[in-house]
Amino acid sequence: MSQTLTIIKPDAVGNGTAGRIIAQLESAGFTLRAARLMTMTPAQARSFYDVHRERPFYESLVAFMTSGPCIPMALEAPDAVRRLRQVIGATDPAEADPGTVRALYAESKERNAIHGSDSDENARREIGFFFPECDRVG
Ligand code: UDP
Ligand code: MG
Repeated sequence: MSQTLTIIKPDAVGNGTAGRIIAQLESAGFTLRAARLMTMTPAQARSFYDVHRERPFYESLVAFMTSGPCIPMALEAPDAVRRLRQVIGATDPAEADPGTVRALYAESKERNAIHGSDSDENARREIGFFFPECDRVG
């Protein structure tokens, strides 16, 4: 078993699709190991997306991610990082495979409903970012 970090982003929480997205993740075989509902501060969003700080979309992304509540969750499954990336689909919903979370629920390349860690190392860092009370949740 391995773990990954997802965030149901503010667009999906705001338009009432968070529950359906969580159900889809559970149906895909993920077990919830930690979850919270929170509105990120600008400092938190800047830090979480620090890898993108030089990108042209960074300021807009920080504004979006702090615009309302989101739901970070630690998920567990075999090969969790790779499988979550398959279930969420491509960053741009126009390029996401049919049936993926982003194809179903994302509004745009920025407002794309869900985050998924991109490596085991980043999953550990991101789980620790939102759930610092334990080095392995669950
Ligand atoms: N993003 C954006 N414009 C872009 C690329 C990314 O607004 O051209 C946003 C989008 O919300 C994305 C996040 O920045 O989910 C992080 O980008 P990344 O390339 O890591 O995509 P992801 O790993 O989320 O698919
Ligand atoms: Mg990414």
